[in-house]
Amino acid sequence: MAPDIIVIGAGISGLAAALDLTRAGIAVEILEARDRIGGRIFTQQDPTLNHPIELGAEFVHGLAPEIWLPLQQHNLKVNEVEGDLWCSIDQKLEKCDFFSKADEILSAMDDKYPDESFLDFLARRFPGDDHAEAKDWATRYVTGFNAANAEDVSVHWLAHGQDAEHQIEGDRAFRIVGGYQELLNVFVKDLDLRTKHVGADALVRPVEQTSTVPSTIQAPSVHVAIHLNTVVRNIQWREGTVKIEALTPHGNEIFEAPRALVTLPLGVLQTRTNFRFDPELPSDKLHALHQLVMGKVLRVTLCFREAPWVRVGRTFLSDNKPGATSGLSNLSFLFSHDEYFLTWWTQMPEHLPMITGWSPAHCAERMVGMTDGRIVDKALESLASLLGLEKAHLNSELNAAYLHNWDNDPFSRGAYSYVKTGGEGCQATLAVPLANTLFFAGEHTDTSGFNGIVHGAIASGQRAAKEILRGL
Ligand SMILES: Cc1cc2nc3c(=O)[nH]c(=O)nc-3n(C[C@H](O)[C@H](O)[C@H](O)COP(=O)(O)OP(=O)(O)OC[C@H]3O[C@@H](n4cnc5c(N)ncnc54)[C@H](O)[C@@H]3O)c2cc1C
Repeated sequence: MAPDIIVIGAGISGLAAALDLTRAGIAVEILEARDRIGGRIFTQQDPTLNHPIELGAEFVHGLAPEIWLPLQQHNLKVNEVEGDLWCSIDQKLEKCDFFSKADEILSAMDDKYPDESFLDFLARRFPGDDHAEAKDWATRYVTGFNAANAEDVSVHWLAHGQDAEHQIEGDRAFRIVGGYQELLNVFVKDLDLRTKHVGADALVRPVEQTSTVPSTIQAPSVHVAIHLNTVVRNIQWREGTVKIEALTPHGNEIFEAPRALVTLPLGVLQTRTNFRFDPELPSDKLHALHQLVMGKVLRVTLCFREAPWVRVGRTFLSDNKPGATSGLSNLSFLFSHDEYFLTWWTQMPEHLPMITGWSPAHCAERMVGMTDGRIVDKALESLASLLGLEKAHLNSELNAAYLHNWDNDPFSRGAYSYVKTGGEGCQATLAVPLANTLFFAGEHTDTSGFNGIVHGAIASGQRAAKEILRGL
């Protein structure tokens, strides 16, 4: 029997939409290219540390209900990020208040002046050498957090995002103790997913239920079929009917429904390799697609036998500064000017010999074309230089390194989106349904001020589900 709607993509936005639709009694089928659900949420387990390793999203930013409601309803444990912030200054390490310093500049952003790039905003609002350090840190924040180039990112978009963050205490960051996979497990359980095509075992780990589902969670009245390993190639649509051609393990197959929800990542929609709409999307949507940029990020997690930063010599820490004596044992974030890896973070408040290097925007561009092995090597080189240790020593202490190259991944083509100067509002254009037949979700279509992040993706799926239900 044909479903009422086909959802293309089993990332968190597609799953969120599917859940709300099935709760309303709508029959949903999901088509997913990978052999797993979750998209840019991708948790692995380090066997030695027995700890989750995130290859995509790691932090829960602030207290957004889209994430906290399911977390609390399923009693999932969450840790707030804690610990010391350190900066690399003049080749020494110094305790610093990175975020407050950056905020001196970021809090001056608003949408009262015509839109401009972050770089132009700095030149206009803070000309000359005054605030040099704060400007530098604010730029590193914009680059690091938004994976955006300061030369083209929209200040209106940044300012609106900042306002939205204030509503949810967005300056606080958390980690789901069992990893982001736990959130996916919740959706899988609530959806009662039935897998078609191969790869059922690859779907997710079984949900380790510690609690029964509270009565506030309405069980879906219909099952949801998910087709893994199903790569959508062609979306043929006319008012009231969608015919989707996809490459499956059994060859080309056609899936039909009266409507479809497209949650393909921005990078996939922009590059269109082996994929098309028939007829093509209207010109305002095509224009909007190019007012967003799919930011690049490479993140490398290094697991050591012992935490090397704990043994950094005092001579390498700035003297006369508070914190120099206690060393780096409570290191949470380390901010640098490194050309490749701008930021490093540990798992604080958990003391684990594990550290993640974050290479956003132009830093990641420098590593385009490198093999994964070479990227890990670069990460070791950067960390060794920041800590004043021998790379060979770090290498000998290394147990495992984890990396997923999202830029090379044909099903994401980048990490997450940001809006270019003059482009604010393009997310709303991308979200508009076509002929009550094609609907759109995904982090890049979020209009609540959170595109790029997990709860923005969930909000977009929930918004699309409402639009679909309204149109029935
Ligand atoms: C390295 C990295 C770190 C991040 N860190 C954070 C963080 O700390 N906190 C945070 O909140 N967010 C973070 N994010 C962003 C967050 O992961 C995303 O915003 C969110 O997961 C996007 O969800 P989505 O459903 O919009 O897209 P996706 O998760 O990309 O879902 C889209 C789905 O479509 C599928 N697909 C693609 N092409 C096809 C096709 N042709 N046919 C069928 N299916 C297809 C994909 O496989 C995928 O499953 C990070 C992202 C990355 C890459």
